[in-house]
Amino acid sequence: MPDMETIVSLAKRRGFIFQSSEIYGGLASTWDYGPLGVELKRNVKEAWWRTFVHQRDDMVGLDASILMARQVWAASGHEAGFSDPLVECKSCHHRFRADQIDTKACPDCGGELTQPRQFNLMFKTFLGPIENATAQTYLRPETAQGIFVNFNNVLTTTRRKLPFGVAQIGKAFRNEITVGNFIFRTREFEQMEIEFFVKPGTDDEWHRRWIQDCMAWYTGLGIAPDHLHVRQHEAHELSHYSKATADIEYAFPWGWGEIQGIANRTDFDLKAHTKASGKDLTYFDEEAKEHFTPYVIEPSAGVDRALLAFLLDAYHEEDVPTADGKSERRVVLKLHPALAPVKVAVLPLSRNERLGPKAREVYNLVRSNFVCQYDDAQSIGRRYRRQDEIGTPLCITVDFQTIDDNAVTIRDRDTMRQERIAIPMLALALHQRLDS
Ligand code: ATP
Repeated sequence: MPDMETIVSLAKRRGFIFQSSEIYGGLASTWDYGPLGVELKRNVKEAWWRTFVHQRDDMVGLDASILMARQVWAASGHEAGFSDPLVECKSCHHRFRADQIDTKACPDCGGELTQPRQFNLMFKTFLGPIENATAQTYLRPETAQGIFVNFNNVLTTTRRKLPFGVAQIGKAFRNEITVGNFIFRTREFEQMEIEFFVKPGTDDEWHRRWIQDCMAWYTGLGIAPDHLHVRQHEAHELSHYSKATADIEYAFPWGWGEIQGIANRTDFDLKAHTKASGKDLTYFDEEAKEHFTPYVIEPSAGVDRALLAFLLDAYHEEDVPTADGKSERRVVLKLHPALAPVKVAVLPLSRNERLGPKAREVYNLVRSNFVCQYDDAQSIGRRYRRQDEIGTPLCITVDFQTIDDNAVTIRDRDTMRQERIAIPMLALALHQRLDS
């Protein structure tokens, strides 16, 4: 596994992730996804949506707004309880989360720390021109509440029966006391969340099933199973709404870190909103002829943390033989084809009047189905390396023989094996190799 410096430098050099506001010296722990990063991030979200919404019968999607009525956050308990214990060093004034440090003294200078005080993580903001209490609300710290407050809307418009779930992908904001480890802990991030509503009493079984399904998603997209584990929360760690929580953790270079939490939120949120809004958020069970408040299992994943885990797990350095009998180091991102930002590169063997038009013809054919790059700069070896480093699964070489036999060579990123394919068969050959 690479160290963080290697992955941060690759991400910057190849246009995956840049520091935000860089020309002004950067804004601490905020990051911008560059041309390749945005493709990778879209692919992560797309793969998740496909697995958990489109390929299941018991799920629908939602896209709620980031700004919500302040009452939502009062009812959900976030206004009173979404806080971390903050301590400050009396000498160097550095701030820490009391639950993240082992010592009673300042980890940076050894100075005396203040008593912990609860610091609310929600970003305050104001709606409209007057900055007073009635205009105040928050940037959402989780996407989940948008689902709870739309429970009736979804239920009546889709006529769903329990168990069913609602999925949502979107930005969330937390004014974290300490940030860091690149995109692992930031104040603005993106979540992929599901609220899966079940009949009370079946919740423990569904919790177990969701942990399995979520683990399978990461391994199915190429993360080595021994780089993942499930950690059950101790009672004292549980959030105010949770009966049981399991975290999926990834073996980051600095140690195990949470990439996803799967909580049993019970009927806490629906009941809280029923009480605060006066609107009935119960479910009517036609068979039993009774109303009840469903329990909810919440798989909640971070897009940015998942993306970082996929990048780290894909990174490989290998020694490969060269034509002159020596060997050279290649960096290769062995990303799952569904995640790779560029699926295919079309490379004419050389810049040439006869090859160019033929290669462009192949490029136009491929790009109608796959994200594709055309590259004719520098030697073919250098171009293969460039594509390996960004994780492009297939390179197509157009050479002089192509003009005679109407066939091209496909090179596989991982095995580096090359195969000759007739151009009329190319689309099929690419689908066979790239579709998952
Ligand atoms: P942590 O214990 O690391 O602060 P959490 O338990 O507060 O995380 P959850 O509330 O369970 O996190 O949020 C669900 C998911 O959202 C996390 O598993 C993570 O992937 C993502 N997430 C939470 N906070 C951040 C953050 N500050 N930066 C990036 N991703 C985050």
